[in-house]
Amino acid sequence: MNRRVRVRFAPSPTGPLHIGGVRTALYNYLFAKQNNGDFLLRIEDTDQTRFVPGAEEYIIEAFKWLGINFDEGVGIGGEYGPYRQSDRKPMYKQYADELLNSGWAYYAFDTPEELDSIRKQYEAEKKNFQYDCNTRGALRNSLSLSKEEVEELLHNNVPYVVRFKFPKDTEILINDLIRGEVKMNSNLLDDKVLYKSDGMPTYHLANIVDDHLMEISHVIRGEEWLPSCPLHVMLYEAFGWKDTMPEFAHLPLLLKPDGNGKLSKRDGDRLGFPVFPLQWTDPKTGDISSGYRESGYIPEAVVNILAFLGWNPGTEQEIFSMQELVEAFSIERISKSGAKFDLEKAKWYNHKYLQIASNIEIAKQFDLILKDKQINASLDYIEKVVSLVKERCSFVSDLWEQSSFFFEKPSSYDEKIIQKRWKEDTPEVLKEIIGLLDSVSDFTTENTDKIVHAFIEERQINMGQIMNCLRLSLVGAGKGPNLFDIVSMIGKEESIERINKAIEAIKK
Ligand code: GLU
Repeated sequence: MNRRVRVRFAPSPTGPLHIGGVRTALYNYLFAKQNNGDFLLRIEDTDQTRFVPGAEEYIIEAFKWLGINFDEGVGIGGEYGPYRQSDRKPMYKQYADELLNSGWAYYAFDTPEELDSIRKQYEAEKKNFQYDCNTRGALRNSLSLSKEEVEELLHNNVPYVVRFKFPKDTEILINDLIRGEVKMNSNLLDDKVLYKSDGMPTYHLANIVDDHLMEISHVIRGEEWLPSCPLHVMLYEAFGWKDTMPEFAHLPLLLKPDGNGKLSKRDGDRLGFPVFPLQWTDPKTGDISSGYRESGYIPEAVVNILAFLGWNPGTEQEIFSMQELVEAFSIERISKSGAKFDLEKAKWYNHKYLQIASNIEIAKQFDLILKDKQINASLDYIEKVVSLVKERCSFVSDLWEQSSFFFEKPSSYDEKIIQKRWKEDTPEVLKEIIGLLDSVSDFTTENTDKIVHAFIEERQINMGQIMNCLRLSLVGAGKGPNLFDIVSMIGKEESIERINKAIEAIKK
């Protein structure tokens, strides 16, 4: 019987979510939707020392913005809750006890100071200390101490941890959906802590128990968890849950643009692009890290960018809607090697999505920028401006640079163009054009264009030269969309005023 696909994204609320984490969530989401399965949000907050206020809210808001929706989990609910591990705390003890009783785990009473001093001794002999099958016999735990000693320690509430007891000489096999078979010898693995006497499970125990109880079918997560996977596989074995163990897929790392190492949380603003979906203010230091949202990225573009960092459809198509991604996605096409972040490509995607985005939505955002500059224009007007210049823009924030002349007169005139194009008779010709424009009643792009062109042709004036001077008068530079779109948008009075002003100002 085919199992229902249930996948989870299981972040620890230790700060803002890195885009690598967002990509992990996205791949889980795509896989779930493609298989008509469920996508869960579980918050893994068992390590209270690393808890950061606001991180959970940040994570939820980021996915809302991106349109990556959960079917179950924190903030949504569901039949397998609670979905926040700190709210599940009481249920983990029985699982630690079960492993203690079956001999898959043991109590360890070594204090941090004791372990530290042993570690130092090893270091002095240029060796690495590990709590494992070779060293556990000489340490203070329920395997080395007598039953009575252990009972007394427990009775006296001496702090302890519960450690997993890796069997000796065992080959552990992981069938990774991306990497294929990964083998590991148990002798190399340390007896990881599963549970502490303060009643808190560690990540490993809570993660496996929850994946089991929540009936997770596939674990799709970052490559940094591959070294923990042998322990996870052994835990399924120890609990007798091997027949329902999820399948594993470990995603390749996200690398810095030059390919040298992992893209870290600190890289973003240093390298000139955000590594977080939303802007984040560190609650302790007040430091601000930039976010894709605040940097003007369109959420659909961010989804598309992330989808392609580690996966490709095997076709030429690069622009994918979420629905198209759901249909095209496949774990087989995820690459094994790391994916380099490419800023130019990210901008390219945003440019493409800006062209698809509705002009009125862009206009609303641009209006905020204009208001900041004390410019009040109707949304209708702004929308038309957007439609005329957006093909030259990758971000809403580029619009001003490309369209300021729709809202204000030029304050200077490009010297190079003056030198090259402004001739002695230019003011005369422009004055004639002013007269012409003044007489036009139908001030549309088409009509003004037709009338001015007819005049230039009839008088056999150098077209390129006079058009450049006309543009210089209206825009102050050589840029901008179709000149008669500008003329018709700013209107008769303003056009005439600007040409007059240029004639006054430009003296060669
Ligand atoms: N809590 C882990 C994290 O922060 C989850 C790892 C996993 O998916 O198993 O990434």
